[in-house]
Order: sequence, then C-alpha cells, then structure tokens
Amino acid sequence: MAKRLSILGSTGSIGVNTLQVVDMLGDEINVCYLSANQNGDLLIKQARTYHPEAVAVVDPEVARSVEKTLSGEGISVLKGREGLLELAARTDVDIMLNGLVGSAGMEPTLLAVNAGIDVALSNKESLVMAGELIARAQAETGADIFPVDSEHSAIWQCLAGEEKEDVRRIILTGSGGPFRTREAETFSEITVAEALRHPNWNMGKKITIDSATMMNKGLEVIEAHWLFRLPPDQIDIVVHPQSIIHSAVEFKDGSVKAQMGVPDMKIPIQYALTYPRHVESNWERLDLVKLGKLTFETPDMNRFPAIGLAYEALRKGGSTPAVLNVANEQAVYRFIKNEILFTDIPKIIQAACDQHEWIKHPKLEDLIQLEEWTKSFVNLYN
Ligand code: MG
Repeated sequence: MAKRLSILGSTGSIGVNTLQVVDMLGDEINVCYLSANQNGDLLIKQARTYHPEAVAVVDPEVARSVEKTLSGEGISVLKGREGLLELAARTDVDIMLNGLVGSAGMEPTLLAVNAGIDVALSNKESLVMAGELIARAQAETGADIFPVDSEHSAIWQCLAGEEKEDVRRIILTGSGGPFRTREAETFSEITVAEALRHPNWNMGKKITIDSATMMNKGLEVIEAHWLFRLPPDQIDIVVHPQSIIHSAVEFKDGSVKAQMGVPDMKIPIQYALTYPRHVESNWERLDLVKLGKLTFETPDMNRFPAIGLAYEALRKGGSTPAVLNVANEQAVYRFIKNEILFTDIPKIIQAACDQHEWIKHPKLEDLIQLEEWTKSFVNLYN
C-alpha cells in the first residue's frame, strides 16, 4: 500500500525537491496534505497535480484566494498558523515531511510526534529548540524522526546495523561556506548578495546565510546531539569544501564509515521516505574519478564564532539553544534587510543567550514565550 505523506512547506526548496522524489517513486507515495506560507500560485499548481485531501496556507489573505481558486475541486483549505498546526496534528498519515524554515517548524514537529506520526525532518530548528520535549514525546508515542539534513542522513546510514556503544565520535562535515578563505578583517564588509552565493548547495535564503556564518554547522551539532543522543565532545566538525562526504562515524576500533554522494537533497529526502531501502533512482551519479581529490580542514572558530556559540549553548542546555536559534534567525533576517552587519550576527546571538532568563527544562509555553522575548530583543538591538 502507498505510504500516506504530508509535506509541510511544499513550495520551499525542500518541498519542491520532495515532490520530485515523489514523482520518481510513483505509486509508492500518496501525497495527502500540503502546506505553504504565502506562495499561493505554486501551491495551487501542486494541489492540482497531486490532489491532496487538504492544504494549509499560513498567510490569511493568500489562504482566502487559494480557497477561492480551488473551490469545487474537493481540496479543503486550512487557514493561518492554526490551520498549519491542525494539519500537523493529523493522525491519518504514515509520515510527515517537515520542510518548514526556522522556529515556525518546531511546534508542527512536536504535534506530529505527539500524535505518533513519524517525521522526515528537514527543519533542524525543531530539535535545536525543543530537543528534550521531542525526545520525551518520542519515548511516549514511539514516533521516529528520520533526518533529511544531508549530514544527519549520512550519520544515520553509517550507523545502520551498528551498536551505539561502539561509536567513538561522529564527524559532521561542512563545506565551510562562501567565506572559507576570505580575510577575517573584511568580514564586516560582507554583503547580502555575497553571503547568498553558496559554493555547492542550492538552498533557501535562511540556511544559505547560516552556511555563510557557519551557524548552520553549529545548529547541526545540536541536531546531531538529539538525533543520535551523543554528548557534545563526541560530535566534531571537519570542513570539506567539495561536499561529497556528507559526514562520517568513527568507531572505537578505529574504523571510520563515511557516506558519500553528489550534493543533491533529493538523495537524503528519498532515503527518509523509503528507509530502510535504497531504491532505484535516476538522480545524478557520483563519479569519483572525475572528482579527483577530496580535501579536509579544521574549522576556524575565530572567523566563525557561531560554531563556538552553538557548542556553548548545547553544553549549557535548557533554554539556551532555543534562544540561540531564534536570535540567529532574527539576526539573519535583519542582515538580509541590510539593518545590521554580517559580523553583528554572532554578537547579537551571544547577547541574547547571555541575557535571557534561563530555564532548565523549558515547556512548550516557555519556548513560545522565549521566542517572543528573543524576537523583540534582536529587533531592538543596535
Ligand atoms: Mg546540512
């Protein structure tokens, strides 16, 4: 029987790639629900192609126009943030793919896990903010989280058939972003256009800026901690500019397993949907000979202070990673609007982490309140 799939954020980069994977898998997947923020035109096109039972549109005005256009086509339209959350809590799907951007994705992940639904997770911010809550919900309902993030998919694949107690450490690889070799003194002059030019991956704006500051790797350390339940000193970062080795696991006997592939999100998305199988696909193949060589470096923590901030937040625990995440996201949006410098991003994050009222075991209400506090903190910062 076909797997019943819901896709949150279907008009974004991950959503669009997921639908290409769905096309390739054919009858194996039945797309039941789609959601979009404000790209009504693309959502309407997707709805007419995949005939979901319902779609959710967060922007109320766009939602009304989507409803009007789709009326009589047997697709119900859920509106606003409420509508999105209602969709995320539905129990009549096998798997929910969360391709939402930023902290907006946290609550939907929690709702799905609470409902006992497996989540193919691209929204790493969910685990960064609410790792403890999600882990507790998983223990109660037995819902699984299948990583879509390429590094975590790689580690997941390397760990297949292995004992956790045999793991010495995991090695998260990162491209180093567009400023890997740029002079530190010129970082304050970095423009938005420069930061949006990623060397290897074609992704949404927020994650592309996160790659430029390397906060993306920092968030991935925290994500890895919750997915694989390892302490921060067993999670290392290695810069690998070619983005071919997506991550590796070192075992206690000295053996290292790495997972490779062309940098194409469709591969980890497909694995999350077809796990534990690696079924036939027609994506571009990896040609090792054509690549010639792969190189590796230590990340420069001085030029990329975001990495250290993320490790520090993970060690501190409690509410700090949630504040780190929201402060980062808001600072990135202010950078994109040219309101702050590239080098202000880590400064603002540090200030927010230091100044918030720390909570040891934040509940969902606490996280929602902290999100509001952090948003206004960042927006008032100058
Ligand atoms: Mg990644």
